[in-house]
Amino acid sequence: MDFDIAVLGTGPAGYVAAIRAAQLGAGVCAIERDFLGGTCLNRGCVPTKTFVETALILEKARRAEEYGVVIDNPYCAFAKLQDRKNAIIEKLRNGIAQLFKHYGIELIEGSGTLADKNTITVEKNGSIREIKASKIIIASGSEPMELKLIPFDGKNVLSSTHVLDLDKAPESLLIIGGGVIGCEFASIFHSLGSKITIVEMMNQLLPNEDIRLSRTLQASFKRRGMDIYLKNTAKEVTIKENHVFATFNDGTVVESEKVLVSVGRSLNCASIGIESCGIKVEKDAIITSGRLETNVPGVYAAGDVTGVSLLAHTAHHQGIFAAENCCGMNRVIDYRVIPSCIYTLPEAASVGLTEAAAKGKGISTVVGRFPFAASSKAVIAGETEGFAQIVAEPETGRIIGAQVIGIDATNLLSEIGVLIAKQATIEDVAHTIHPHPTLSEVWMEAAMDAMGRAIHIISRKK
Ligand SMILES: Cc1cc2nc3c(=O)[nH]c(=O)nc-3n(C[C@H](O)[C@H](O)[C@H](O)COP(=O)(O)OP(=O)(O)OC[C@H]3O[C@@H](n4cnc5c(N)ncnc54)[C@H](O)[C@@H]3O)c2cc1C
Repeated sequence: MDFDIAVLGTGPAGYVAAIRAAQLGAGVCAIERDFLGGTCLNRGCVPTKTFVETALILEKARRAEEYGVVIDNPYCAFAKLQDRKNAIIEKLRNGIAQLFKHYGIELIEGSGTLADKNTITVEKNGSIREIKASKIIIASGSEPMELKLIPFDGKNVLSSTHVLDLDKAPESLLIIGGGVIGCEFASIFHSLGSKITIVEMMNQLLPNEDIRLSRTLQASFKRRGMDIYLKNTAKEVTIKENHVFATFNDGTVVESEKVLVSVGRSLNCASIGIESCGIKVEKDAIITSGRLETNVPGVYAAGDVTGVSLLAHTAHHQGIFAAENCCGMNRVIDYRVIPSCIYTLPEAASVGLTEAAAKGKGISTVVGRFPFAASSKAVIAGETEGFAQIVAEPETGRIIGAQVIGIDATNLLSEIGVLIAKQATIEDVAHTIHPHPTLSEVWMEAAMDAMGRAIHIISRKK
Protein backbone atom coordinates (compact mmCIF):
# COMPACT_ATOMS: atom_id res chain seq x y z
CA MET A 1 0.00 0.00 0.00
CA ASP A 2 1.17 3.58 -0.73
CA PHE A 3 -0.66 5.07 2.26
CA ASP A 4 -2.48 3.97 5.41
CA ILE A 5 -5.31 6.38 4.62
CA ALA A 6 -6.36 8.21 1.45
CA VAL A 7 -8.84 11.06 1.87
CA LEU A 8 -10.91 12.12 -1.16
CA GLY A 9 -11.64 15.85 -0.91
CA THR A 10 -10.13 18.57 1.29
CA GLY A 11 -13.15 20.48 2.61
CA PRO A 12 -13.67 20.67 6.39
CA ALA A 13 -14.41 16.93 6.51
CA GLY A 14 -11.42 15.88 4.42
CA TYR A 15 -8.63 18.16 5.61
CA VAL A 16 -9.61 17.72 9.26
CA ALA A 17 -9.69 13.92 8.81
CA ALA A 18 -6.28 14.02 7.15
CA ILE A 19 -4.74 16.07 9.97
CA ARG A 20 -6.29 13.96 12.74
CA ALA A 21 -5.19 10.70 11.09
CA ALA A 22 -1.64 12.06 10.69
CA GLN A 23 -1.62 13.13 14.35
CA LEU A 24 -2.38 9.50 15.21
CA GLY A 25 0.65 8.37 13.21
CA ALA A 26 -0.97 7.27 9.93
CA GLY A 27 0.64 7.82 6.53
CA VAL A 28 -1.95 10.02 4.81
CA CYS A 29 -2.64 11.49 1.38
CA ALA A 30 -5.46 13.89 0.47
CA ILE A 31 -6.78 14.18 -3.08
CA GLU A 32 -8.23 17.48 -4.29
CA ARG A 33 -9.45 18.50 -7.75
CA ASP A 34 -9.92 22.17 -6.89
CA PHE A 35 -8.66 24.20 -3.93
CA LEU A 36 -7.61 23.16 -0.42
CA GLY A 37 -10.41 23.94 2.06
CA GLY A 38 -13.33 22.89 -0.14
CA THR A 39 -16.65 24.69 -0.33
CA CYS A 40 -16.41 26.10 3.19
CA LEU A 41 -13.18 28.00 2.65
CA ASN A 42 -13.39 28.86 -1.04
CA ARG A 43 -17.10 29.20 -1.91
CA GLY A 44 -19.07 28.97 1.34
CA CYS A 45 -18.67 29.92 4.99
CA VAL A 46 -15.52 32.04 4.75
CA PRO A 47 -16.28 34.23 1.69
CA THR A 48 -19.93 34.74 2.67
CA LYS A 49 -19.05 35.74 6.20
CA THR A 50 -16.41 38.13 4.82
CA PHE A 51 -19.22 39.78 2.84
CA VAL A 52 -21.38 39.79 5.99
CA GLU A 53 -18.65 41.63 7.91
CA THR A 54 -18.57 44.39 5.29
CA ALA A 55 -22.38 44.58 5.22
CA LEU A 56 -22.48 44.97 9.02
CA ILE A 57 -19.88 47.76 9.00
CA LEU A 58 -21.80 49.54 6.26
CA GLU A 59 -25.09 49.24 8.15
CA LYS A 60 -23.48 50.56 11.34
CA ALA A 61 -21.82 53.42 9.42
CA ARG A 62 -25.20 54.42 7.98
CA ARG A 63 -26.54 54.65 11.54
CA ALA A 64 -23.35 56.19 12.95
CA GLU A 65 -24.97 59.48 13.96
CA GLU A 66 -27.26 57.61 16.35
CA TYR A 67 -24.06 56.71 18.24
CA GLY A 68 -22.68 60.23 18.05
CA VAL A 69 -20.26 59.50 15.22
CA VAL A 70 -20.40 61.39 11.94
CA ILE A 71 -19.49 59.50 8.79
CA ASP A 72 -20.27 61.13 5.46
CA ASN A 73 -21.74 58.98 2.72
CA PRO A 74 -20.50 55.49 3.66
CA TYR A 75 -20.43 53.13 0.67
CA CYS A 76 -18.91 49.79 -0.29
CA ALA A 77 -15.86 49.86 -2.55
CA PHE A 78 -16.72 46.49 -4.07
CA ALA A 79 -13.30 45.80 -5.58
CA LYS A 80 -11.70 46.25 -2.13
CA LEU A 81 -14.24 43.88 -0.63
CA GLN A 82 -13.32 41.28 -3.26
CA ASP A 83 -9.59 41.83 -2.67
CA ARG A 84 -10.10 41.38 1.07
CA LYS A 85 -12.19 38.24 0.56
CA ASN A 86 -9.57 36.73 -1.76
CA ALA A 87 -6.74 37.60 0.64
CA ILE A 88 -8.58 35.95 3.56
CA ILE A 89 -9.18 32.78 1.54
CA GLU A 90 -5.54 32.69 0.45
CA LYS A 91 -4.30 33.18 4.02
CA LEU A 92 -6.49 30.40 5.42
CA ARG A 93 -5.66 28.07 2.50
CA ASN A 94 -1.95 28.61 3.18
CA GLY A 95 -2.64 27.77 6.82
CA ILE A 96 -4.00 24.34 5.84
CA ALA A 97 -1.10 23.80 3.43
CA GLN A 98 1.34 24.53 6.29
CA LEU A 99 -0.44 22.07 8.56
CA PHE A 100 -0.31 19.40 5.82
CA LYS A 101 3.41 20.04 5.47
CA HIS A 102 3.96 19.84 9.22
CA TYR A 103 2.09 16.53 9.49
CA GLY A 104 3.66 15.05 6.34
CA ILE A 105 0.33 14.74 4.52
CA GLU A 106 0.78 14.39 0.77
CA LEU A 107 -1.60 16.59 -1.23
CA ILE A 108 -2.37 14.94 -4.55
CA GLU A 109 -3.94 17.32 -7.08
CA GLY A 110 -6.49 15.90 -9.48
CA SER A 111 -9.89 14.28 -9.73
CA GLY A 112 -10.18 11.01 -7.82
CA THR A 113 -12.35 7.99 -8.59
CA LEU A 114 -12.61 4.88 -6.45
CA ALA A 115 -11.59 1.80 -8.45
CA ASP A 116 -12.00 -0.61 -5.53
CA LYS A 117 -12.00 -0.44 -1.73
CA ASN A 118 -8.24 0.14 -1.62
CA THR A 119 -7.62 2.04 -4.85
CA ILE A 120 -8.28 5.58 -6.05
CA THR A 121 -7.30 6.64 -9.56
CA VAL A 122 -6.42 10.31 -9.81
CA GLU A 123 -6.65 12.11 -13.14
CA LYS A 124 -4.98 15.45 -13.82
CA ASN A 125 -4.57 16.99 -17.28
CA GLY A 126 -4.92 13.59 -18.93
CA SER A 127 -2.38 11.76 -16.79
CA ILE A 128 -3.48 9.08 -14.33
CA ARG A 129 -1.96 8.08 -11.00
CA GLU A 130 -3.17 5.04 -9.09
CA ILE A 131 -3.13 5.32 -5.30
CA LYS A 132 -3.35 2.32 -2.98
CA ALA A 133 -4.45 2.83 0.63
CA SER A 134 -5.47 0.50 3.45
CA LYS A 135 -8.41 2.77 4.31
CA ILE A 136 -10.30 5.41 2.37
CA ILE A 137 -12.31 8.38 3.65
CA ILE A 138 -14.73 9.86 1.11
CA ALA A 139 -15.20 13.59 1.78
CA SER A 140 -16.17 14.87 -1.66
CA GLY A 141 -18.78 17.37 -0.42
CA SER A 142 -21.51 19.00 -2.47
CA GLU A 143 -22.24 21.50 -5.27
CA PRO A 144 -25.01 24.09 -5.85
CA MET A 145 -28.17 22.41 -7.14
CA GLU A 146 -29.29 23.59 -10.56
CA LEU A 147 -32.90 24.11 -11.63
CA LYS A 148 -33.75 22.58 -15.01
CA LEU A 149 -35.97 25.60 -15.63
CA ILE A 150 -33.02 28.00 -15.51
CA PRO A 151 -29.57 26.47 -15.78
CA PHE A 152 -26.74 28.53 -14.32
CA ASP A 153 -25.05 30.76 -16.90
CA GLY A 154 -22.77 32.65 -14.48
CA LYS A 155 -23.98 35.93 -15.99
CA ASN A 156 -27.63 36.48 -15.14
CA VAL A 157 -28.48 33.13 -13.55
CA LEU A 158 -26.12 32.65 -10.64
CA SER A 159 -25.23 29.96 -8.13
CA SER A 160 -23.92 30.77 -4.65
CA THR A 161 -20.44 30.33 -6.13
CA HIS A 162 -20.97 32.84 -8.97
CA VAL A 163 -22.51 35.45 -6.71
CA LEU A 164 -19.36 35.56 -4.60
CA ASP A 165 -17.30 36.64 -7.60
CA LEU A 166 -19.46 39.53 -8.85
CA ASP A 167 -17.59 42.76 -9.55
CA LYS A 168 -20.40 44.91 -8.18
CA ALA A 169 -23.66 44.53 -6.31
CA PRO A 170 -26.46 44.06 -8.87
CA GLU A 171 -29.15 46.76 -8.99
CA SER A 172 -31.74 44.07 -8.36
CA LEU A 173 -31.43 40.44 -7.31
CA LEU A 174 -34.18 37.82 -7.39
CA ILE A 175 -33.43 34.97 -5.00
CA ILE A 176 -35.14 31.65 -5.69
CA GLY A 177 -35.14 29.75 -2.40
CA GLY A 178 -35.53 31.35 1.04
CA GLY A 179 -33.40 28.85 2.99
CA VAL A 180 -30.23 29.73 4.90
CA ILE A 181 -28.05 30.50 1.87
CA GLY A 182 -30.78 32.50 0.10
CA CYS A 183 -31.53 34.55 3.22
CA GLU A 184 -27.84 35.23 3.91
CA PHE A 185 -27.29 36.57 0.40
CA ALA A 186 -30.55 38.57 0.59
CA SER A 187 -29.29 40.25 3.74
CA ILE A 188 -25.79 40.87 2.36
CA PHE A 189 -26.83 42.30 -1.01
CA HIS A 190 -29.61 44.39 0.50
CA SER A 191 -26.98 46.06 2.68
CA LEU A 192 -24.73 46.50 -0.35
CA GLY A 193 -27.53 48.32 -2.19
CA SER A 194 -29.40 45.71 -4.30
CA LYS A 195 -33.20 45.60 -4.51
CA ILE A 196 -34.04 42.11 -3.20
CA THR A 197 -36.95 39.82 -4.03
CA ILE A 198 -37.16 36.36 -2.46
CA VAL A 199 -39.49 33.62 -3.66
CA GLU A 200 -39.87 30.57 -1.41
CA MET A 201 -41.97 27.46 -2.01
CA MET A 202 -42.84 26.85 1.66
CA ASN A 203 -44.96 29.08 3.89
CA GLN A 204 -42.00 30.56 5.78
CA LEU A 205 -38.44 31.68 5.17
CA LEU A 206 -35.93 29.26 6.73
CA PRO A 207 -38.44 26.37 6.47
CA ASN A 208 -36.56 24.20 9.00
CA GLU A 209 -36.49 26.81 11.74
CA ASP A 210 -38.87 27.78 14.55
CA ILE A 211 -41.86 29.66 13.13
CA ARG A 212 -41.53 32.63 15.51
CA LEU A 213 -37.86 33.03 14.62
CA SER A 214 -38.62 32.82 10.91
CA ARG A 215 -41.49 35.35 11.15
CA THR A 216 -39.22 37.75 13.02
CA LEU A 217 -36.64 37.54 10.24
CA GLN A 218 -39.33 37.92 7.60
CA ALA A 219 -40.78 41.01 9.28
CA SER A 220 -37.30 42.48 9.57
CA PHE A 221 -36.52 41.83 5.90
CA LYS A 222 -39.85 43.42 4.88
CA ARG A 223 -39.21 46.44 7.07
CA ARG A 224 -35.90 46.89 5.31
CA GLY A 225 -37.69 46.92 1.96
CA MET A 226 -37.27 43.40 0.58
CA ASP A 227 -40.13 41.78 -1.35
CA ILE A 228 -40.95 38.27 -0.13
CA TYR A 229 -43.23 35.78 -1.88
CA LEU A 230 -44.07 32.65 0.13
CA LYS A 231 -45.90 29.48 -1.01
CA ASN A 232 -44.84 30.51 -4.48
CA THR A 233 -42.26 29.54 -7.03
CA ALA A 234 -40.85 30.68 -10.37
CA LYS A 235 -42.58 28.67 -13.11
CA GLU A 236 -41.11 30.49 -16.09
CA VAL A 237 -37.91 32.47 -16.46
CA THR A 238 -36.70 34.34 -19.54
CA ILE A 239 -33.67 36.52 -20.09
CA LYS A 240 -34.06 39.60 -22.26
CA GLU A 241 -31.51 42.35 -22.77
CA ASN A 242 -29.41 41.17 -19.88
CA HIS A 243 -32.36 41.15 -17.48
CA VAL A 244 -34.26 38.27 -15.94
CA PHE A 245 -38.06 38.10 -16.11
CA ALA A 246 -39.54 35.51 -13.76
CA THR A 247 -43.20 34.56 -13.67
CA PHE A 248 -44.35 33.08 -10.38
CA ASN A 249 -47.12 30.51 -9.88
CA ASP A 250 -49.53 33.23 -8.75
CA GLY A 251 -48.91 35.19 -11.98
CA THR A 252 -46.60 37.82 -10.46
CA VAL A 253 -43.83 38.86 -12.86
CA VAL A 254 -40.56 40.08 -11.37
CA GLU A 255 -37.84 41.74 -13.41
CA SER A 256 -34.34 41.73 -11.98
CA GLU A 257 -30.79 42.23 -13.17
CA LYS A 258 -29.71 38.86 -11.82
CA VAL A 259 -31.23 35.78 -10.24
CA LEU A 260 -29.58 33.67 -7.55
CA VAL A 261 -30.79 30.08 -7.49
CA SER A 262 -30.36 28.74 -3.95
CA VAL A 263 -32.61 25.71 -3.81
CA GLY A 264 -30.25 23.26 -2.13
CA ARG A 265 -27.08 21.30 -2.74
CA SER A 266 -26.31 18.20 -4.83
CA LEU A 267 -24.07 15.74 -3.02
CA ASN A 268 -20.89 14.69 -4.83
CA CYS A 269 -21.62 10.96 -4.73
CA ALA A 270 -22.08 10.35 -8.43
CA SER A 271 -19.03 9.85 -10.68
CA ILE A 272 -16.59 9.13 -7.85
CA GLY A 273 -16.79 5.38 -8.41
CA ILE A 274 -18.73 4.35 -5.32
CA GLU A 275 -20.75 1.90 -7.45
CA SER A 276 -17.58 -0.02 -8.30
CA CYS A 277 -17.09 -0.76 -4.59
CA GLY A 278 -20.77 -1.44 -3.87
CA ILE A 279 -21.10 1.48 -1.43
CA LYS A 280 -24.73 2.00 -0.46
CA VAL A 281 -26.46 5.31 -1.07
CA GLU A 282 -29.89 6.48 0.09
CA LYS A 283 -31.57 9.69 -1.12
CA ASP A 284 -28.28 10.55 -2.91
CA ALA A 285 -26.29 10.41 0.37
CA ILE A 286 -23.68 7.80 1.35
CA ILE A 287 -25.02 5.68 4.20
CA THR A 288 -22.64 5.41 7.16
CA SER A 289 -22.75 3.83 10.59
CA GLY A 290 -22.30 5.96 13.73
CA ARG A 291 -18.58 5.19 13.26
CA LEU A 292 -18.76 6.89 9.83
CA GLU A 293 -17.98 3.59 8.09
CA THR A 294 -19.88 2.73 4.91
CA ASN A 295 -21.26 -0.75 4.25
CA VAL A 296 -17.83 -1.58 2.72
CA PRO A 297 -15.38 -2.28 5.57
CA GLY A 298 -12.44 0.11 5.53
CA VAL A 299 -14.23 2.76 3.46
CA TYR A 300 -15.50 5.70 5.49
CA ALA A 301 -17.44 8.85 4.54
CA ALA A 302 -17.65 12.25 6.22
CA GLY A 303 -19.17 15.67 5.57
CA ASP A 304 -21.90 16.72 3.17
CA VAL A 305 -21.76 13.41 1.25
CA THR A 306 -23.35 11.73 4.27
CA GLY A 307 -26.36 14.09 3.97
CA VAL A 308 -26.50 14.57 7.76
CA SER A 309 -26.60 18.36 8.03
CA LEU A 310 -24.65 20.03 5.20
CA LEU A 311 -22.82 22.22 7.68
CA ALA A 312 -19.10 22.77 8.05
CA HIS A 313 -19.00 22.07 11.79
CA THR A 314 -20.73 18.72 11.31
CA ALA A 315 -18.29 17.90 8.50
CA HIS A 316 -15.34 18.82 10.74
CA HIS A 317 -16.60 16.59 13.56
CA GLN A 318 -17.34 13.69 11.23
CA GLY A 319 -13.82 14.06 9.77
CA ILE A 320 -12.31 13.61 13.24
CA PHE A 321 -14.46 10.57 14.05
CA ALA A 322 -13.79 8.93 10.65
CA ALA A 323 -10.02 9.45 11.07
CA GLU A 324 -9.97 8.10 14.63
CA ASN A 325 -11.95 5.02 13.65
CA CYS A 326 -9.67 4.45 10.64
CA CYS A 327 -6.79 4.48 13.10
CA GLY A 328 -8.27 1.74 15.26
CA MET A 329 -10.35 3.72 17.75
CA ASN A 330 -14.03 2.96 18.27
CA ARG A 331 -15.83 6.28 18.37
CA VAL A 332 -19.54 6.73 17.75
CA ILE A 333 -20.76 10.17 16.72
CA ASP A 334 -23.68 11.88 18.48
CA TYR A 335 -25.78 14.11 16.21
CA ARG A 336 -28.17 15.40 18.90
CA VAL A 337 -26.44 18.76 19.25
CA ILE A 338 -25.86 20.31 15.83
CA PRO A 339 -26.11 24.09 15.97
CA SER A 340 -27.58 25.89 12.99
CA CYS A 341 -26.35 29.45 12.40
CA ILE A 342 -27.82 31.97 9.98
CA TYR A 343 -25.66 35.03 9.33
CA THR A 344 -28.40 37.42 8.30
CA LEU A 345 -29.13 40.85 9.75
CA PRO A 346 -30.49 40.14 12.34
CA GLU A 347 -28.52 36.94 12.93
CA ALA A 348 -30.35 33.79 13.91
CA ALA A 349 -29.33 30.46 15.40
CA SER A 350 -30.87 27.34 16.85
CA VAL A 351 -29.93 24.04 18.44
CA GLY A 352 -31.87 20.98 19.56
CA LEU A 353 -35.64 20.83 19.31
CA THR A 354 -38.11 23.60 18.56
CA GLU A 355 -41.39 23.65 20.47
CA ALA A 356 -43.18 22.31 17.37
CA ALA A 357 -40.63 19.54 16.75
CA ALA A 358 -40.88 18.45 20.40
CA LYS A 359 -44.68 18.37 20.10
CA GLY A 360 -44.32 16.26 16.95
CA LYS A 361 -42.31 13.74 19.01
CA GLY A 362 -44.92 13.72 21.79
CA ILE A 363 -42.61 15.60 24.21
CA SER A 364 -44.33 18.25 26.32
CA THR A 365 -42.42 21.49 26.74
CA VAL A 366 -42.12 24.70 28.67
CA VAL A 367 -40.71 27.69 26.78
CA GLY A 368 -38.96 30.70 28.25
CA ARG A 369 -38.39 33.75 26.09
CA PHE A 370 -36.55 37.02 26.54
CA PRO A 371 -36.51 39.95 24.08
CA PHE A 372 -33.29 41.78 23.25
CA ALA A 373 -35.26 45.01 23.79
CA ALA A 374 -35.05 44.23 27.54
CA SER A 375 -31.30 43.45 27.53
CA SER A 376 -29.22 46.40 28.68
CA LYS A 377 -26.26 45.34 26.52
CA ALA A 378 -28.47 45.12 23.40
CA VAL A 379 -29.92 48.56 24.18
CA ILE A 380 -26.38 49.96 24.58
CA ALA A 381 -25.41 48.37 21.25
CA GLY A 382 -28.53 49.85 19.64
CA GLU A 383 -29.60 46.38 18.42
CA THR A 384 -32.84 45.50 20.16
CA GLU A 385 -34.54 43.40 17.48
CA GLY A 386 -35.35 39.75 18.24
CA PHE A 387 -35.41 37.38 21.20
CA ALA A 388 -33.82 34.31 22.77
CA GLN A 389 -35.90 31.33 23.78
CA ILE A 390 -35.22 28.10 25.64
CA VAL A 391 -37.28 24.94 25.23
CA ALA A 392 -37.24 22.59 28.23
CA GLU A 393 -39.01 19.55 29.61
CA PRO A 394 -41.54 20.74 32.24
CA GLU A 395 -41.01 17.93 34.77
CA THR A 396 -37.22 17.81 34.83
CA GLY A 397 -36.41 21.30 33.54
CA ARG A 398 -33.89 19.66 31.18
CA ILE A 399 -33.06 21.93 28.24
CA ILE A 400 -33.86 20.28 24.89
CA GLY A 401 -33.59 23.20 22.50
CA ALA A 402 -32.99 26.90 22.00
CA GLN A 403 -33.56 29.48 19.31
CA VAL A 404 -32.23 33.01 19.12
CA ILE A 405 -32.61 35.83 16.64
CA GLY A 406 -30.87 39.16 17.14
CA ILE A 407 -27.47 40.66 17.81
CA ASP A 408 -24.62 38.12 17.90
CA ALA A 409 -27.08 35.20 17.92
CA THR A 410 -24.55 32.80 16.36
CA ASN A 411 -21.99 33.31 19.13
CA LEU A 412 -24.62 33.32 21.85
CA LEU A 413 -25.95 29.91 20.86
CA SER A 414 -22.80 27.96 21.78
CA GLU A 415 -23.55 28.18 25.53
CA ILE A 416 -26.81 26.32 25.04
CA GLY A 417 -25.23 23.65 22.80
CA VAL A 418 -22.91 22.71 25.67
CA LEU A 419 -25.79 22.79 28.17
CA ILE A 420 -27.93 20.44 26.06
CA ALA A 421 -24.97 18.08 25.60
CA LYS A 422 -24.43 18.06 29.36
CA GLN A 423 -28.17 17.62 30.07
CA ALA A 424 -28.33 20.85 32.07
CA THR A 425 -31.61 22.34 33.30
CA ILE A 426 -33.20 25.78 33.21
CA GLU A 427 -32.41 26.00 36.96
CA ASP A 428 -28.71 25.50 36.12
CA VAL A 429 -28.80 28.43 33.69
CA ALA A 430 -30.87 30.65 35.95
CA HIS A 431 -28.49 30.07 38.87
CA THR A 432 -25.27 30.59 36.95
CA ILE A 433 -24.01 34.13 37.43
CA HIS A 434 -23.78 35.62 33.94
CA PRO A 435 -21.59 38.72 33.51
CA HIS A 436 -23.29 42.11 33.24
CA PRO A 437 -23.83 43.83 30.94
CA THR A 438 -23.51 41.09 28.34
CA LEU A 439 -25.82 39.62 25.77
CA SER A 440 -25.43 36.22 27.47
CA GLU A 441 -27.79 37.45 30.20
CA VAL A 442 -30.66 36.79 27.74
CA TRP A 443 -30.26 33.04 28.45
CA MET A 444 -30.43 33.53 32.22
CA GLU A 445 -33.58 35.62 31.80
CA ALA A 446 -35.14 33.19 29.28
CA ALA A 447 -34.49 30.31 31.69
CA MET A 448 -36.10 32.31 34.51
CA ASP A 449 -39.02 33.19 32.22
CA ALA A 450 -39.56 29.45 31.63
CA MET A 451 -40.10 29.23 35.39
CA GLY A 452 -42.37 32.30 35.41
CA ARG A 453 -39.88 34.56 37.19
CA ALA A 454 -37.79 36.61 34.75
CA ILE A 455 -36.53 39.82 36.30
CA HIS A 456 -36.45 42.31 33.44
CA ILE A 457 -39.75 41.38 31.74
CA ILE A 458 -43.10 40.48 33.22
CA SER A 459 -43.20 36.68 33.02
CA ARG A 460 -46.47 34.93 32.50
CA LYS A 461 -47.17 32.22 35.12
CA LYS A 462 -46.17 28.82 33.65
C1 LIG B 1 -22.70 29.91 0.27
C2 LIG B 1 -22.48 28.93 1.37
C3 LIG B 1 -22.34 29.37 2.67
C4 LIG B 1 -22.13 28.45 3.69
N1 LIG B 1 -22.00 28.92 4.96
C5 LIG B 1 -21.83 28.05 5.98
C6 LIG B 1 -21.66 28.51 7.30
O1 LIG B 1 -21.65 29.71 7.56
N2 LIG B 1 -21.50 27.59 8.28
C7 LIG B 1 -21.50 26.24 8.02
O2 LIG B 1 -21.36 25.45 8.95
N3 LIG B 1 -21.63 25.77 6.77
C8 LIG B 1 -21.80 26.64 5.74
N4 LIG B 1 -21.90 26.17 4.47
C9 LIG B 1 -21.85 24.73 4.24
C10 LIG B 1 -20.39 24.20 4.26
O3 LIG B 1 -19.64 24.94 3.32
C11 LIG B 1 -20.36 22.73 3.91
O4 LIG B 1 -21.24 22.04 4.77
C12 LIG B 1 -18.97 22.16 4.07
O5 LIG B 1 -18.07 22.81 3.21
C13 LIG B 1 -18.97 20.67 3.75
O6 LIG B 1 -17.69 20.17 3.90
P1 LIG B 1 -17.21 18.86 3.13
O7 LIG B 1 -15.80 18.66 3.54
O8 LIG B 1 -18.16 17.77 3.34
O9 LIG B 1 -17.30 19.21 1.58
P2 LIG B 1 -16.75 20.42 0.71
O10 LIG B 1 -16.40 21.59 1.55
O11 LIG B 1 -17.74 20.60 -0.38
O12 LIG B 1 -15.40 19.85 0.13
C14 LIG B 1 -15.35 18.78 -0.74
C15 LIG B 1 -14.06 18.86 -1.53
O13 LIG B 1 -13.92 17.67 -2.28
C16 LIG B 1 -13.42 17.98 -3.57
N5 LIG B 1 -13.81 16.91 -4.49
C17 LIG B 1 -15.07 16.51 -4.79
N6 LIG B 1 -15.01 15.45 -5.64
C18 LIG B 1 -13.70 15.20 -5.85
C19 LIG B 1 -13.01 14.23 -6.63
N7 LIG B 1 -13.66 13.31 -7.34
N8 LIG B 1 -11.68 14.26 -6.63
C20 LIG B 1 -10.98 15.19 -5.90
N9 LIG B 1 -11.58 16.12 -5.16
C21 LIG B 1 -12.93 16.12 -5.12
C22 LIG B 1 -14.09 19.32 -3.89
O14 LIG B 1 -13.34 20.02 -4.88
C23 LIG B 1 -14.05 20.00 -2.54
O15 LIG B 1 -12.88 20.76 -2.38
C24 LIG B 1 -22.07 27.06 3.41
C25 LIG B 1 -22.18 26.61 2.10
C26 LIG B 1 -22.38 27.53 1.08
C27 LIG B 1 -22.50 27.03 -0.32
